[in-house]
Amino acid sequence: MQRTRYPPSNLLHVVHHVDYMAPPPERGTFKFDKYQLVMVALRESGAAMTEHAPDPCPREWLEAVHDPSYVEEVFTQTVPHEKERRIGFPVTPHIASRVRHTNGGTWLAAQLATKHGYAANSAAGSHHALHDTGAGYCVFNDLAVAANRLIAEGDATRILIVDLDVHQGDGTASLTAGCEDIFTLSLHADKNFPVRKARSTLDVALPDGVDDDGYMDTLSRHLPLIIDDFDPSLILYQAGVDPHADDRLGRLNLTDEGLTIRDRFTVREARKRGIPIASALGGGYGNDQRIVADRHARSMLAMADENARWPHTQNNALPKAVGR
Ligand SMILES: [Zn+2]
Repeated sequence: MQRTRYPPSNLLHVVHHVDYMAPPPERGTFKFDKYQLVMVALRESGAAMTEHAPDPCPREWLEAVHDPSYVEEVFTQTVPHEKERRIGFPVTPHIASRVRHTNGGTWLAAQLATKHGYAANSAAGSHHALHDTGAGYCVFNDLAVAANRLIAEGDATRILIVDLDVHQGDGTASLTAGCEDIFTLSLHADKNFPVRKARSTLDVALPDGVDDDGYMDTLSRHLPLIIDDFDPSLILYQAGVDPHADDRLGRLNLTDEGLTIRDRFTVREARKRGIPIASALGGGYGNDQRIVADRHARSMLAMADENARWPHTQNNALPKAVGR
């Protein structure tokens, strides 16, 4: 078994693309500022990091998961107004290019995680996107698209998708239903969006106002058992920061410290078993986008720091190479 250590100069491997930014939409309340501000916060933190630019996601990868006619609507910017209303913003040429890059970004983060133990996509986690439409600020479901492609290519045998965004990962659950090599875990606020929940492999619905201790009690009761039973070769982590007490769309009561404990725990449970883990940004909402961006940046830096505590083995990372 080959064992590789990476120097601290490559602490955080983060995927980012200029197209992650988009001009403010003409309709809707969604703000794209945070994607730039996250990178500003990371760069200003002085932490060692390497930035990686993703290629646009090939159309076929999207069509393997989404209805090809919906993919066509996005690519030609002919998404019906009704679907755009569900998404929350109009699908312009920039958005069409953006979502191809954010989807390619999660796939790239997974590839980088197999090399370095952990890597982050600085956008995406678009867990509400469904088969034939987007929803809830999500256009294409990068988690389902990447998981599907990684398994199809033999880059992973089984993938666990851990979704700790405060909203249920309904799109991911429905797009991966029946895939025995994908396990979806969603821990979410029961009374939050979406009103009609889908069925994940395991859903843990939390009551309003759960605090740091209550949250960690629940997460630590489920996550280690799932990893041991399902034995994933890769974990995709939707690391939304919207369980924070100050989040505009959350209903839980986590502190900054609570989010850090959550993120370190999730990475530790993966890495102590030699499993690579890639994160997607997920939700985070507030009037001051800098505060939200700082929350996301702290989350990624905490995960990179936790990852650095665990030596990276190539064993689980490259199942093909060792004949698994
Ligand atoms: Zn959310």
